[in-house]
Amino acid sequence: MYDVIILGSGPAGLTAAIYTTRANLKTLVIAGEKWGGQLMLTTEVENFPGFPEGIQGPDLMSNMRKQAEHHGAKFVDVNFASGDFLKSPFTIQAGEKSYQGKAIIIATGADTKWLDIPGEKEKIGRGVSSCAPCDAPFFRNKYVMVAGGGDSAMEEAIVLTRFAEQVTIIHRRDQFRASSIMFDKAKANPKIKFILNAQITEILGDIKVTGVKIKNNVTNEEVEMPTDGVFVAIGHIPNSKVFPGIDIDEKGFIKVYKHTKTNKEGVFVAGDVHDRQYMQAITAAGFGCAAALEAERWVEEQK
Ligand code: NAP
Repeated sequence: MYDVIILGSGPAGLTAAIYTTRANLKTLVIAGEKWGGQLMLTTEVENFPGFPEGIQGPDLMSNMRKQAEHHGAKFVDVNFASGDFLKSPFTIQAGEKSYQGKAIIIATGADTKWLDIPGEKEKIGRGVSSCAPCDAPFFRNKYVMVAGGGDSAMEEAIVLTRFAEQVTIIHRRDQFRASSIMFDKAKANPKIKFILNAQITEILGDIKVTGVKIKNNVTNEEVEMPTDGVFVAIGHIPNSKVFPGIDIDEKGFIKVYKHTKTNKEGVFVAGDVHDRQYMQAITAAGFGCAAALEAERWVEEQK
């Protein structure tokens, strides 16, 4: 029997684990087969406090995990399969085993949102990607497109310019959602071009990406343009659908009722799976800390 089972191992889950273990709570982290969350797919993180020179995303996560393990957290690198969230103690199935915990912290983060257009799914890994830090080297001296108008799109485009000959950001409106600092960085990069009021409607090519169909959202005109790759950076979908009985909102984010508490007693939530506002590593870590403190209080009250 664990005091706390944490589902997820991004900054929220790992910070929660550091706090629960330091509060002497027996803690299990169901880390997922690909542990570490979205920062494992990032290169340099410049805005996490404490690292004046910046730190590589995977190094940051590795440090957080070591810190949680150092304080006694147990990790299983398997995916959450199912669970009953009716009443404590909760039973969780993961990696063909069952685990019991008095309190649960859901910190499962969010996944890539895809364009959901013809030609996209079947070409993931063959020119379609959502991770420039992972796949940019495959596009050395090539022409690529990035879909989106937020910070992710700017970041992906900037990373791609290290390898690609030219990067075109395609955004469906003429106003950017990206912060001005990120937009200015992208705009100042001579390899980055912009196509506004437009969206990709189809990804072309038999086996690999050879081009895209782009619709002008003002004139409704559609044109074909050649490209070697399409990077999709249009946001994320929270990993919230696998928790029976846990309330989610219309966009799939887990609802918080008070101080990281879900609608179920003893089930807490932290990070991108509930946060549609900030979605930063440091805010996820902060929410992880808050959820751990709430879980600690709750476990204590049950005695
Ligand atoms: P986002 O801010 O939600 O932006 C998503 C963008 O994709 C928007 O411009 C949106 O267009 C567009 N979009 C959404 N669905 C689309 C569709 N079906 N077809 C075409 N375009 C579509 O998401 P994000 O850029 O992933 O950023 C999420 C959060 O992470 C933000 O808070 C951001 O600041 C943060 N972040 C920070 C950094 C950094 O600081 N280095 C890096 C990455 C992300 P509309 O504008 O028309 O809605």
